[in-house]
Amino acid sequence: MCDLCVGTADDGPMARRGVLKLGAAAVAACAIAPHALAAAAKAPPKPENILSPNDALTRLMKGNARYVEGVSRRHDFKHEREALSKGQNPFAAVLSCADSRIAPEYCFDAARGDLFVCRVAGNFASDDVIASIEYAVQVLNTPLIMVLGHESCGAVDATIKSIKDGTTLPGHLPSLVAAISTAVKATQGEAGELLNNAIQRNVLLNVEKLKTSGPILNTFVDGKKLRIVGGVYKLASGKVELLV
Ligand SMILES: [Zn+2]
Repeated sequence: MCDLCVGTADDGPMARRGVLKLGAAAVAACAIAPHALAAAAKAPPKPENILSPNDALTRLMKGNARYVEGVSRRHDFKHEREALSKGQNPFAAVLSCADSRIAPEYCFDAARGDLFVCRVAGNFASDDVIASIEYAVQVLNTPLIMVLGHESCGAVDATIKSIKDGTTLPGHLPSLVAAISTAVKATQGEAGELLNNAIQRNVLLNVEKLKTSGPILNTFVDGKKLRIVGGVYKLASGKVELLV
């Protein structure tokens, strides 16, 4: 059993129907057991996380400002553990790179139970990532998604070099290249530095992919219940620059 199975915030019958629709891909690590559906009726453990999409973004960026200024809050891990033992209602989902220098909970000064984080080198929305985010949106009522790229992304840089040199990377790395190559090819020839341009374009393309992903995410976006934004993390300052 994983955390996804323990308990959820409640969004009434729609959320529970959504669980049934999600299917195996949405919860690759485990099946959603009937007891999880019963737990969905419980009150969310963090009432302060029930926010509009815009308020969620404001809170996220205020957390980043604290992180940048070096005034991050002290988090009470013991109290949080107890509060979150029976459920979760994160106020934002973050699709970030796996780069060890990018830590969403740190850079947004967030506690456990606040962020639903999916990480993959190159921060692109694969089917598995989309399924995970669908779970956050439909079942956990998360009102905000941020696709978070970062400066000097090695995955984007490797894709640029692979395309430029016409080489095939070893192992499973070509799957990253395939996912990121659209952004690289779209920015080739543009003014400015190719790596930075491709990093930004990769974020924007994945924001658009999530916004138009049916049948769950696009429905929530159209209903103004979900906002999807993109940002780039600046390595030296820690600041997240919003792109959209
Ligand atoms: Zn990266």
